[in-house]
Amino acid sequence: MENIFAPWRMQYISVSKEQEGCIFCDFPKEDRDEERLILFRGRSCFVILNAFPYNPGHLMVAPYRHTCEYEGLEDVELFEMHRVAGRCIEALKRAMHPQGFNLGVNLGKVAGAGFDGHLHLHVVPRWNGDTNFMPVFTDVRVVAEELGATYRKLRDCWI
Ligand SMILES: [Zn+2]
Repeated sequence: MENIFAPWRMQYISVSKEQEGCIFCDFPKEDRDEERLILFRGRSCFVILNAFPYNPGHLMVAPYRHTCEYEGLEDVELFEMHRVAGRCIEALKRAMHPQGFNLGVNLGKVAGAGFDGHLHLHVVPRWNGDTNFMPVFTDVRVVAEELGATYRKLRDCWI
């Protein structure tokens, strides 16, 4: 996969290497949503911008509860996770006009989960010619748009 030089990514890479514990548990407990790229907080789950996006606007919906078992999700978590994914799609459509989306959950490292302790639903906007389907969720990809700008654009388009 082709690499694009993007020096602003270095801060995120160094942050993530220092990061211990679980970002999906730790970040919502803090009061720095913009810095942590938390876009929306629901009752049982929240939305966070992926700091290692496959494409610009790559979002993740995660329950607050620390679990890696999809089959053990509560009804309320399952329902809200997918309802909120719909709102992610709405915001992405308004902000970035993608031509398609991939939605998916990777369970286990072997399935491509970069972080497999706390399940999360990926919402990835797609554009014609961005790449093939196969690398989705399995590789880190450098994107040209700065994360903070994407965050603010999506926040403005959140309804
Ligand atoms: Zn967790």
